[in-house]
Amino acid sequence: MVILKTASAIKKMREAGRLSALALQVGGEAVVPGITTAEIDRIIHDFIVKQGATPSFLNLYGFPASACISVNDELIHGIPGNRVIKEGDIVSIDVGACLDGYHGDNAATFVAGETSEEAMKLLDVTKQSLYKGIEMATVGHRVGDISNAVQTYCEDRGYSVVREFVGHGVGRSVHEDPEVPNFGAAGHGPRLVNGMVIAIEPMINAGTRFVSTDSNGWTVRTKDGKLCAHFEHTIAITEDGPIILTDPN
Ligand code: MG
Repeated sequence: MVILKTASAIKKMREAGRLSALALQVGGEAVVPGITTAEIDRIIHDFIVKQGATPSFLNLYGFPASACISVNDELIHGIPGNRVIKEGDIVSIDVGACLDGYHGDNAATFVAGETSEEAMKLLDVTKQSLYKGIEMATVGHRVGDISNAVQTYCEDRGYSVVREFVGHGVGRSVHEDPEVPNFGAAGHGPRLVNGMVIAIEPMINAGTRFVSTDSNGWTVRTKDGKLCAHFEHTIAITEDGPIILTDPN
């Protein structure tokens, strides 16, 4: 069931979103060669708590940290630990903050130092595809219009779209209906209406679309070991167009 948000709920979600975006920014600034993923998580955790909010992902379904930190061929749900970030690594951080009962959810892939041109291109296309999806997040469109925009943009550039994980509604729960796939047919799926809040989150592979989950039950990585990227915003669909709630400004 899709839970529509009132204007005042969206206002609160904007604050939760802003905080989530700032937490992501703080985490991204910490991505430098030599730091461990646990240290990045600690910085993010402390930032969120200091703002009087709670990390949305901590203990969510039993996840043991405040941010998912996934490196290189790891796509999502990486568990922060003693892995040391190296020059040229690409590091996906997915983080949300809960403020006044509402969640924000956002992600981005950052670069430690300098990386290959190939990796930079993957990051750029994945990020751009998110904005192609956001452009379609208007009243009267359907979820499939977002999905198709993301898929087409990425596949036209030779990348593949992960099917097993999708975007979602956001509100008092981090994950609400509807599902927002990064693939699908335009003109299909639930209709987008005023007051819907959704997370659009392209998860894009440089190689094939297939992924596997590590034996820890969490870390999702590409099956072929090639690079992957992840960008996400929480968006409110309004009569005035899409509003990016996870904007740091
Ligand atoms: Mg999400």
